[in-house]
Amino acid sequence: MTFLEEVKSLLVESQRRPIKIPDEIQKEFAKDCLSAVQKQFTDKRESEFRIRMSNIGRPLCQLQMEKKYATDSTVGYADNYNTKLRNLYGDIIEAVVVMLLRVVKVNIQGVQGKVKLKTKYFDIKGTYDIIIDDKVYDIKSASSFSFRNKFGQGFQSIANDDVFGYLPQGYLYAQSLKKNFGGWIVINKETGEMLITEPPQEDSKFKREALKRANTNIKALMKDEPFERQFELKNEKFGRNETGNKVLGTVCSYCQYKHKCWGDDIQYLPQQQSKSANPTYYWYVELNNPRQVESEESQKK
Ligand code: SF4
Repeated sequence: MTFLEEVKSLLVESQRRPIKIPDEIQKEFAKDCLSAVQKQFTDKRESEFRIRMSNIGRPLCQLQMEKKYATDSTVGYADNYNTKLRNLYGDIIEAVVVMLLRVVKVNIQGVQGKVKLKTKYFDIKGTYDIIIDDKVYDIKSASSFSFRNKFGQGFQSIANDDVFGYLPQGYLYAQSLKKNFGGWIVINKETGEMLITEPPQEDSKFKREALKRANTNIKALMKDEPFERQFELKNEKFGRNETGNKVLGTVCSYCQYKHKCWGDDIQYLPQQQSKSANPTYYWYVELNNPRQVESEESQKK
């Protein structure tokens, strides 16, 4: 039985009868939750951009923006009240998973350990989530969409579209500990489902590429290489036809630097040709074919 199957059967069993959670494990869980609260609310805020294992695999353009605007509180997520809460319950879900793994007596060799790895420029630092049976795992809480369509589709699916830099993160932790990367223990934060997305047994190609990506980004940031967008605008389509408008793609739409990158005049608007009561919204960068309000109204008359 895999360790995740053991956790699942514990959860099933707990619905039939009370399960004893040893006092020591309860105390560790309480400590982990407190650390999560302190991390989000009382730890000293970083005003400087820092290259870390958890961020270095992200698109270089985002990292360059982050470096440039690190001390500018008017840029980014400063106004989003939900960011803190989202991060906090992500950390607490992680603590719950660790508690469950402790209860089923998985062979845990480390939790939330600080690591560092020498690079050409400096020692890159990070904090891994958990080591089980000599493999380093990262714990992720995911939306239902990402649980099913990303992590649920296997390792290759994450590798194909790794905009959060999950592979460099995992392989950097593993490399710094001279262990293998075990993959991601993923929890669907909406439903409580769990899965593990593991690398294939022969993962040297993934590892090589992930570490290379990290090193390329480190070099570019240390040498202050010129900013270059990593993503293009999308030609908007309505049905099968192009509308003539240009919109941001998914990564740019969620990027906190999109206004700095594409201009303050980008507009978040409903799809311009749609007559749906709940149209999809896009970030319009070029609005060459706007909604024809007047002609629509005169047609109705
Ligand atoms: S908006 Fe897009 S291109 Fe610009 S920094 Fe963000 S991800 Fe990169």
